[in-house]
Amino acid sequence: MTKQGLVVPKDGQPIHMTAKGLEVPDRPIIPYIRGDGTGVDITPVMVKVVDAAIEKAYKGRKSIAWMKVYAGDEAIQEYHPGMSEDAIKAVPPEERQKLYLPDETAEAIKTYLVAIKGPLTTPVGGGIRSLNVSLRQILDLYACVRPVKHIGTPAPVREPEKVDMVFFRENTEDVYAGIEWKAGSPDADKVIAWLRTEMKVKSIRFPTMCGIGVKPISQEGSVRLVKAAIDYAIRDGRKKVTLVHKGNIMKFTEGAFRDWGYELGKTYPQIVTEEEVTTVHGGKVPAGKIVLNDRIADQFFQQMLLRPDEYSVVATTNLNGDYMTDAAAAQVGGLGVAPGANINYSSGHAVFEATHGTAPKYAGQDKVNPGSLILSAVEMLKYLGWREAADSVLQGITKAVASKRVTYDLERMMDGATLVSCSQFGTEIVKYL
Ligand code: NAP
Repeated sequence: MTKQGLVVPKDGQPIHMTAKGLEVPDRPIIPYIRGDGTGVDITPVMVKVVDAAIEKAYKGRKSIAWMKVYAGDEAIQEYHPGMSEDAIKAVPPEERQKLYLPDETAEAIKTYLVAIKGPLTTPVGGGIRSLNVSLRQILDLYACVRPVKHIGTPAPVREPEKVDMVFFRENTEDVYAGIEWKAGSPDADKVIAWLRTEMKVKSIRFPTMCGIGVKPISQEGSVRLVKAAIDYAIRDGRKKVTLVHKGNIMKFTEGAFRDWGYELGKTYPQIVTEEEVTTVHGGKVPAGKIVLNDRIADQFFQQMLLRPDEYSVVATTNLNGDYMTDAAAAQVGGLGVAPGANINYSSGHAVFEATHGTAPKYAGQDKVNPGSLILSAVEMLKYLGWREAADSVLQGITKAVASKRVTYDLERMMDGATLVSCSQFGTEIVKYL
């Protein structure tokens, strides 16, 4: 299958996971996937900005050895040039999946631990699973990490500058591992009959033509996610971790997520619960402590809009996190500037990515906003422990937005703004590093 093979940068070194955490050399090898559609526009701009920030921060002492790996359309072009769409469709589904996500791409990310990617197309009716989902499953990237912070972009709320939250959304269970049976199918009827006779369930309101869904939420899955959130809060100097759940209705899944979260919290000397702050500490958070509290999802949803500054790190189950992270991103200006990452904090594997899609109608036009991928790179730099470079990029993009020389999506919403291309916006960011 390998036609050309991957080129491993000779002067780079792999990142290792050790008992003490990530061990990052001064020139780590970082695989990157260009991405489909507008990936061709935004990925080179991200690389240019990140390289410039690292150079500025470390004056040649550190740099990234970028390693190009292939997925999506580019994998077809590289490994199977000229293969027609019909020929691709004729390949059995499992093998077809590998045409778009070659084994050696997944292997490279497994080996080098930290990667960054542009958006990838999920062909509708193309018979392959989402490549993003495949990567998450192959590497067991259990935490979807979505920081949401206002960087001066036009926003629909009155005080977007109060938003500075980091969401930890469970990425492997709940509805992502949901089991469903179609209404009217023999299997659904069998499950319903079993629930009523064996399990003595009396509350199925309309048992005929009724779809059934099961969502698993485990102790192991919940604890590793909440641990990731608390550890992040400690590392990042944050003051609060909020468990968001729907435990008032789903006691043994969502409610258990909350309970396991609190149990884990007790094992941290840095944690104090909101209840303890009131009952033991007279309403004052003891110095140096991080408050652990919980909110029911619907209540949290309105509070994050009305009083976002009351929240900092949020740990939540899969479906809650799905809605909340996009809504929170909208609160500060939309997905065009929303970074994301999928991380396994135990193995160290992490894939940083733009949260928007491939926007195919703009592909190759040097038009779209590279901000989401660049801010994802900021998170990657933080993950590597290269804080100075991360801060430099964040400053660059914030000042570039403030200068109002921005891409079309922001230009159309900002009074007195000047339209610049995707690559020019990158040049603007570099100017302000
Ligand atoms: P999309 O690619 O995110 O595009 C939807 C709209 O969002 C665009 O038309 C554009 O809006 C805006 N937009 C997206 N990227 C932008 C950027 N960088 N700068 C400024 N505006 C941007 O969503 P889609 O059209 O639903 O999905 C297209 C493909 O992407 C699908 O194959 C989908 O499966 C895939 N996808 C991939 C990922 C991923 O790889 N993580 C995520 C989502 C979707 P305006 O035209 O209004 O300006």
